[in-house]
Amino acid sequence: MSEETIFSKIIRQEIPTPLLYQDDLVTAFRDISPKAPSHILIIPNKLIPTVNDVTEDDELTLGRMFTVARKLAMEEGISEDGYRLLVNCNNHGGQEVYHIHMHLVGGKRLGPMLA
Ligand code: 5GP
Repeated sequence: MSEETIFSKIIRQEIPTPLLYQDDLVTAFRDISPKAPSHILIIPNKLIPTVNDVTEDDELTLGRMFTVARKLAMEEGISEDGYRLLVNCNNHGGQEVYHIHMHLVGGKRLGPMLA
């Protein structure tokens, strides 16, 4: 059994956080500690702890995360200049919250991806 994280509480709005998007599969909201002018987290409503836990059954949800990223990037006005989508996995990947999330980061020119 996977442990719920704070993100499940945000999905259910038990911790009030303004949502930028929510449907039956995914939820999006701003990162509490933004690393760029636009920093949004797009997460599955279902708890999937890490990319290692993804299965074929999740393909619709994972695809939805990308289409929502595209939509939100348009709304943020960062589509043309560009942005970065990032998913961290486990300790070496720098994952802090064990509920898969896609970072949508943009609004400035970002540095090299790997540090
Ligand atoms: P990770 O390092 O796991 O890929 O990223 C986790 C992200 O979640 C971090 O960028 C962190 O700022 C963000 N975060 C952690 N707790 C909260 C929270 O309670 N609310 C919001 N909006 N973001 C959070």
